[in-house]
Amino acid sequence: MLTSEAVKDFAKAAGADLCGIGNVERFEGAPEQMDPRYIFPDARSAVVIGRRIPRGVYRGIEEGTHWSNYTFYGYNRLNTLFMPKAQYETACFIEDHGFEAVPVYPGVPESQPTGQPLRPGQPGPEVYPQVRIAAVAAGLGEMGWSKVFLSKQFGPRQRLCMILTDAELEPDPLVEPQSICNLCMSCVDECLGHCIPHIRENKFVEIQIEDKTYRWADVDMGKCCLTHHGMNKEASPFLAKDFPGMRLNVREQHMSEEEAYKLTHTVGSATWRKTPEFPTGHALDYAYTMLHGVGYYAVCGASGCIRACMMNLEKAGRIEAAYHNPFRKRPMWTLSYEGEPGVTKT
Ligand code: SF4
Ligand code: SF4
Repeated sequence: MLTSEAVKDFAKAAGADLCGIGNVERFEGAPEQMDPRYIFPDARSAVVIGRRIPRGVYRGIEEGTHWSNYTFYGYNRLNTLFMPKAQYETACFIEDHGFEAVPVYPGVPESQPTGQPLRPGQPGPEVYPQVRIAAVAAGLGEMGWSKVFLSKQFGPRQRLCMILTDAELEPDPLVEPQSICNLCMSCVDECLGHCIPHIRENKFVEIQIEDKTYRWADVDMGKCCLTHHGMNKEASPFLAKDFPGMRLNVREQHMSEEEAYKLTHTVGSATWRKTPEFPTGHALDYAYTMLHGVGYYAVCGASGCIRACMMNLEKAGRIEAAYHNPFRKRPMWTLSYEGEPGVTKT
């Protein structure tokens, strides 16, 4: 007999900070290309595992002095190394009880390659579930207005992954909408990508799970991607250094997410001849170094959707994570898109 409690206890002993379980009926209404039931038609339950992002991962960017920690411990190594261990071991634990367990890697659904459907009535590969929504369906938390998943324990600071299983496990209760996000709009105010619409703009996405309606901002993913991947002068000291004359105002861009990926990753992985003006041989030195060393790079430091949000939630006492010190002690830095350094927001 395999119980939900046994799965959650095992996952936590294997290193998970969060583990919740939803039944697959909670994915009713999901777009075909994101519906996990197409990956495993016999699945009865979705087990979602989370590992926290330590608050200190954001310290270097907050101080304006150290970026790579954010890529290592906030993204790449967390998603590819620390979290899959708990996920993999929990999948094996489930299979040791005679049930099948499908560990699903937490990629970005919108950027998966697509192929021809192989059977009538089903979508083509890649079907890729949205793991944040799976976490909501597993009762671990809710979507914040920022489109970032929020847990009661850590607010916006975790990465997530999922295991589909044909074991019929007791689902966790859903979290009440807006019991964590208090619609403070700090994420909107402090996002250096200017990509999260204010609630008064009435641009939102909404989903229904059982009797609950979850709603979040319809984020401009082109602007977010440009900023996250360092093509926004307000957020990237590296772009300011390697393209000092560029005047790219992210507020005026209307790129799709794919278009922004195409631009950021093409420039980020490009080489250029070494000259006295640009001696590194890389078009964008920071991006090139990270992409070739780690395979990923993130620049924006989640100024709005994670840092501002976590400060608000800590202050409002809406999450369990508590610290002896406030995260921010001096005004937030930013750059102007004309390349002026040292501009600060208050
Ligand atoms: S900062 Fe966080 S709590 Fe405030 S509106 Fe944004 S997502 Fe919600
Ligand atoms: S990742 Fe950066 S640009 Fe994107 S929403 Fe968060 S703060 Fe804004």
